[in-house]
Amino acid sequence: MELYSAKMNMIHSDIRGKNYYTALQLEQQCEKILKLNTGNPPAFGFDMPVSVKNALLENLDKAMGYCDPRGMLPARQAITEYHVSKGLKNITVDDVFIGNGISEIASIINTVLLNAGDEVLLPMPCYSLWSNEVKLAGGVPVFYRCDETCGWNPDTEHIRSLITPKTKAILVINPNNPTGVLYSTETLTEIAEIARKNNLIVLSDEIYDRLVFDGKVHISFATLAPDLTVITMNGLSKSHCLCGFRCGWLILSGEEKTKQLLREAITKIVSIRLSANALMQTVIPAAMKDTAYTESMIQKGGRLYEQRKAAFDALDKIDGLSYVKNDAAFYVFPKIHHEITDDKMFAHDLLLEKKVLIVPGSGFMQNDHQHFRIVLLPEADVLGKAITDIGKFLNKQL
Ligand code: PLP
Repeated sequence: MELYSAKMNMIHSDIRGKNYYTALQLEQQCEKILKLNTGNPPAFGFDMPVSVKNALLENLDKAMGYCDPRGMLPARQAITEYHVSKGLKNITVDDVFIGNGISEIASIINTVLLNAGDEVLLPMPCYSLWSNEVKLAGGVPVFYRCDETCGWNPDTEHIRSLITPKTKAILVINPNNPTGVLYSTETLTEIAEIARKNNLIVLSDEIYDRLVFDGKVHISFATLAPDLTVITMNGLSKSHCLCGFRCGWLILSGEEKTKQLLREAITKIVSIRLSANALMQTVIPAAMKDTAYTESMIQKGGRLYEQRKAAFDALDKIDGLSYVKNDAAFYVFPKIHHEITDDKMFAHDLLLEKKVLIVPGSGFMQNDHQHFRIVLLPEADVLGKAITDIGKFLNKQL
């Protein structure tokens, strides 16, 4: 009998994959590595919001015990208010479940929804949490193309062509990781139509919804389709730079009868795992009120704004590379115009030569060996230099 289940051979993380562990080894040998592989703002000196620090200190002794498995009530109230303010209709605290990050929420949702062989439509490129969790729950990820020539918007014709009697749900990651783009309302409306026609549940990962640049506005998928069963997900990892707190949630919307069935199923699972981290839940009300913290990062003069600009300036100077400007989040996903045979090896060699760690496109199921993702979190000068180094490395390969 095998030691571990066959599922273990089906999952992988290239964000924290072989190259990442090589980088850690190099660091142990006193090499300085710029790790552009994870969207981890505190690792690049982003401070904790003062509002959150104060709430933590005030609430330390309220977080010693297990709490309501669905999440603490004041936290669920604050989350409900936020989503109502974004236009979600007919939602109450009973529709909110708090987990240890969207990462845990993804595991819960897939376990609740999927029987063996059920198919879930996922974007390609895809943040790999989702493909891994679908497989772990016994489901089958089916990838729909996002079209680089259309600003990485999902190709809705391709989505239509992939639907089978086994298609259970469709995932939308908007704003997207790894491309950083915001989808057009037209595309989202078309996806809603497809979901309506084919009775699909919509999973909407909106963790970057507050990190949108240039005055653009994020539209929550559920507001475009109040009649559909939509599971909207969000958290504090990115907007408040609190990824180490492991704080995320889901909110159910749509027809009441379906919501009630899902509430019962999700309650079973969250009860089995006792409760999510209680301390992080005590800061949710303060964090949700603190919009200034997030806005200060994305406005002109703010770190995310200036770093993004520095990245564009440096990318524009590289021959043989193109990229779609990100509207949101802190990622770009450039395209290399000449042939590289193995993008993992490319990332490996770049790490050894330039001491910069990136994630190759294949880490996001973009298997054309022409893409890679850069995280735009270092200070502008550091980021600009790293991108210039990537350009030099690329041009040497020509
Ligand atoms: N969803 C997307 C699209 C992400 O990019 C990430 C993290 O990078 C997550 C979910 C995970 O979020 P959490 O920290 O809440 O687990």
